[in-house]
Parts: sequence; C-alpha cells; structure tokens
Amino acid sequence: MNRLHYAGVAAALIASALVAQAQQQTPAQTLPPAPAAAPAPPPTATTKVADNVYIFRYVGHQSMFIVTPAGVIATDPISLRRPAKPYIDAIQAVTKAPIKYVIYSHSHFDHSAGGQPFKDLGATFVAQRNAKARIQALKPADVVVPDQVVDDKKVITLGGTTLELLYLGKNHSDSTLVMRLPKEKIIFTVDWIPIQGVQFREMADTYIPDIEDGLKKVIALDWETLIPGHPGPGGKQTGTKDNARDQLAYLQDLSSAVKQEVAQGKSYDDAVKDISLPKYAAWPNYKAFLPMNIERYYDFWNRGI
Ligand SMILES: [Zn+2]
Repeated sequence: MNRLHYAGVAAALIASALVAQAQQQTPAQTLPPAPAAAPAPPPTATTKVADNVYIFRYVGHQSMFIVTPAGVIATDPISLRRPAKPYIDAIQAVTKAPIKYVIYSHSHFDHSAGGQPFKDLGATFVAQRNAKARIQALKPADVVVPDQVVDDKKVITLGGTTLELLYLGKNHSDSTLVMRLPKEKIIFTVDWIPIQGVQFREMADTYIPDIEDGLKKVIALDWETLIPGHPGPGGKQTGTKDNARDQLAYLQDLSSAVKQEVAQGKSYDDAVKDISLPKYAAWPNYKAFLPMNIERYYDFWNRGI
C-alpha cells in the first residue's frame, strides 16, 4: 500500500467520523425541546406517626420502624428484587443509632426479602416460628433466616420503648405477627387488615374461618392506630379500629352470601354472578378481586378447605 493510499484511507475515516457525528447531533439540534414531564411520585417516603415511630414506604409496600436512643427496631425489609439501601438510608436520615432488630410481619417474600444489608449491619432477625420454618423449607434466594422466633408472645424492650410481638393464630398466613406498641397505642400488622379493601386476589395462604376469629382478637386489643403493609386509597398510610371492624363485617357478609349459594347447589360461576356486596363497592379493588374472594369462600363452604 503506498502513502497516497494511506492518506486516502485516513481522509475517508475522518469524513465518515464527521458524518457520524453530524448524524448524532442532528436530531438534538432540529427537534423542538421536549415538554416538561409530569414529576413521577417518589418511590420512597418516610412518615412520622409518633415521636419515635415512623413508616417507610417503598413504592406500594410499607414498614414500620421505631427509633430509640439505644437503637432502631426495623420491620420488614420490603426489598424483593430491589435494593434495601433506600430503607437503610431513610432510617439513618432520622438517627445514627444502630439498627438492632429486623422483625418480619409474616413469611411472604414481598415483605420479608432483601434483609442482608441489615444483617451486615449487625441486626438480629425475629419472626414467628412458622415463618422461620417456611423460609428454611423454601430457601428463597434473598430472605435472611430469622435468628430468633416468637411462639405466642415476645416483648422487646429497647431504649425505653416496649414492643409486643403477638401471634393471634392463623389469618392471612400461619405466621402473621401483630406488633403492638402499648404506650403509643399503635399496631403494625400486614396484609389482612387493609384500609378499605377486599382481600388480595384468591386469598392465597389465608385460613378460613381463622381469619375472622383473628380479626375479633385484634379488635379486642388496646390500640388506636393501624399501620398496614400497603397504603390504602389515596395513599392513606394509617387506619383505625374501624378498618378492622369493616374487614370483619366484609368477610362475614361474603361468607354468608357464598354459603347460601353453595346450599342452593350453585356453581362457582353462578356464585360470582349472583353475589354483590354494595356496602363495599366503593373499595378500590372490589371489582377486580371480589370474584376471586368469592371462589375462596366457595371452596370453604363447598369442600371445607
Ligand atoms: Zn402476605
């Protein structure tokens, strides 16, 4: 290859590079400026519920954390397939006290997963005994196995705060704890007492009629504020005993309506078609999930399962 040819190749390369650059630049130079996008809702938020009690919301999930001078009691990591760092950052924005505990509300992975960074900071993990057994049996990739278990009741006292971990029996799972702060009259319990909502889809892992008994027990406890595992309509983050009473009434109304259909020899499809519960029709997930809730109760009344 002679020198002239080299020069020709070099010139061609420079020319094509300039063309490529121009092509890259052209759209940005010729397009009108993009309209300002509507701001996305923040994926996380920290809300103060009492002097020492906070809610950390992570998109559609929420956890309670309690801040004391001697350390923090955190609950569910809620970090399935996403980093736990925003939760840890949210706690450390409130206090530099160490995170002493992570307590699982129940075994379900969308609430329990992602705790390893808390473990790396030295937190002790606590759950109901059945949650530990389920986690050990299924070995989910990103769920820390609890260090300590609760049978019926355990009391944690830290830095002047008392937290009761109560197991009231089976409801939305066989491992659900009711975490009660007796002084603050707050409870945190997940997935079975929504703020205005029917039960999720086909009520997987839910025990009938135990869940109704559980609601009676939780209503009988002394508390005023409910922190659920998911915000309610309009992003509402806390509820009251009325939400527990409403949920019990809903399940009782649903149960007796389905029982009647089964007694008349109706099919699943008939029951779904026949039953409407107008008292609860304003709840946002009523239309989507009522048919599946009906099928769950149909199995109970038709086959005892
Ligand atoms: Zn659950």
